Amino acid sequence: MKVMSMFLKMTSFLMIPCYIIAQNNNYDIVLKNGKVIDGSGNSWFYSDVAVKGNKIVLIQKNIQAGNAKTIDVTGLIISPGFIDVHTHIEGDEIKTPTADNFILDGVTTVVTGNCGASKVMIGEYLKFLDSLRLSVNVATLIGHNDVRRAVIGNANRAPDESEMQKMELLVDQAMRQGAVGLSTGLIYIPGTYSKMDEIVRLAKVAARNNGLYASHMRNEGDSVLIAIQEAITIGREAKIPVEISHFKLSGQRNWGRSNESVPMIIAARKEGLDVTIDQYPYTASSTSMSTMIPDEILADGADSVKARLQRPDVRKYVIESMLKNLKKRKLKHFSYAVVAYHRADTTLNGKSVEEINLLKGKKHKAKYEAETVIDLMLQGGAGMVFHGMSDEDVEAIMKYPFNMFASDASIREYGQGKPHPRGYGTNSRVLSMYVRDKKIISLEEAIRRMTSLPAQKFQLKERGLIHEGMIADIVVFDEMKVRDLSTYDNPHQYSTGFRYVLVNGQLVVENEKHTGVRSGAVLYGPGRHE
Ligand SMILES: [Zn+2]
Repeated sequence: MKVMSMFLKMTSFLMIPCYIIAQNNNYDIVLKNGKVIDGSGNSWFYSDVAVKGNKIVLIQKNIQAGNAKTIDVTGLIISPGFIDVHTHIEGDEIKTPTADNFILDGVTTVVTGNCGASKVMIGEYLKFLDSLRLSVNVATLIGHNDVRRAVIGNANRAPDESEMQKMELLVDQAMRQGAVGLSTGLIYIPGTYSKMDEIVRLAKVAARNNGLYASHMRNEGDSVLIAIQEAITIGREAKIPVEISHFKLSGQRNWGRSNESVPMIIAARKEGLDVTIDQYPYTASSTSMSTMIPDEILADGADSVKARLQRPDVRKYVIESMLKNLKKRKLKHFSYAVVAYHRADTTLNGKSVEEINLLKGKKHKAKYEAETVIDLMLQGGAGMVFHGMSDEDVEAIMKYPFNMFASDASIREYGQGKPHPRGYGTNSRVLSMYVRDKKIISLEEAIRRMTSLPAQKFQLKERGLIHEGMIADIVVFDEMKVRDLSTYDNPHQYSTGFRYVLVNGQLVVENEKHTGVRSGAVLYGPGRHE
């Protein structure tokens, strides 16, 4: 094998003996004595790994390091950097370009623009990211909600034909400027006002540009199966690969239904549709407080919403619908709904709606708690954490082999608010709680789902594997010590155990400390035309 690869290398470089140069120790960094898990799902093996420039150039034992920076990683795992396909970094990248929460959880690449929310002018945004330089690589989707809003605002209606064509043009432009696909957020305004045919038309534009469709589905609770069917149908009709985002079962009465939802994904793949899913390893979700309010109240922008929420008849209707939803959850109080960040009064961060209602001196009744939510909405709304899933479903979904791990988080501003811990601990939690402690999946399998599976699905070429010639996005960690420390009560805590992280061949973490290096690149989708 060695002779063969030597021959290939020599002939491919027109007889320049680069193999001999390689033996002259012309490397930048050499990781010595690691346990390599290459991201393919194959078993670990002992090896050194040599990096030159932004590439992995040699994987074998006993590499002569010469003048290269040599790092002894005896007993540690060398794996590809993790790829987080579901993030929302817009607006936070400029505050914290070092992306510490991701980097210190082993993430070297993020895909942003999810849940229908992105910049509309993708070309400009990618240029901005390129000049800003983050510590992580970034790819982006084009978000349906923002495309729709750019054309018809937050109107609660279908677009007419000329508006539809404008939306198609915006998606086409975004794909040609480098988006990796189209995302929807069908529980959010204005995406929730769209019908399936609108999404199929836009997905066809993304498909024409070789992109994928990432769906925050219309429902993740009572109607989850219908919502999955819709996502699959869009894939079939638009002939586009589908990624179903943050796959889950919300609400106690839906617990256990992963035994119905996961088989739908299996059946779709059997039919020949490229459907995969992703998941964050927690039993609480996190999103805007507005998702507690009926959609029709939220149309036409903030001023209209405010005016509506002050009308007694609307307040009554909203309270009734919120109480109905609470009953469906089989709960007596809004204890499951916790404020993560309320700008108007940050002392409420970390408190449940039930607690806040009592703090405001109101009666301990769900009706008044619903009223408290309306009051908070009138004061600008809030980011929320909702405790509504079961660990049995989280584990059942985790066992599905074409499910990847994704945080659904942004770049965290250290110490700000009480955000969901998933932004700090998604990967380390999988590796510690679900791999090491509960043994739900093997270490090699978990790493495959964090690396080569997302790279393949999102067409992030040259990444996601520790192979010679691949780009050197590398994580070195201690499989016995890796752990998430971020909790709901105390979220601003970095994960532990990630000893070294390389992004494009540069050391961004050394001895578990961020070096401040910002070597992340912008990653373009396959539809890009310059
Ligand atoms: Zn989402």
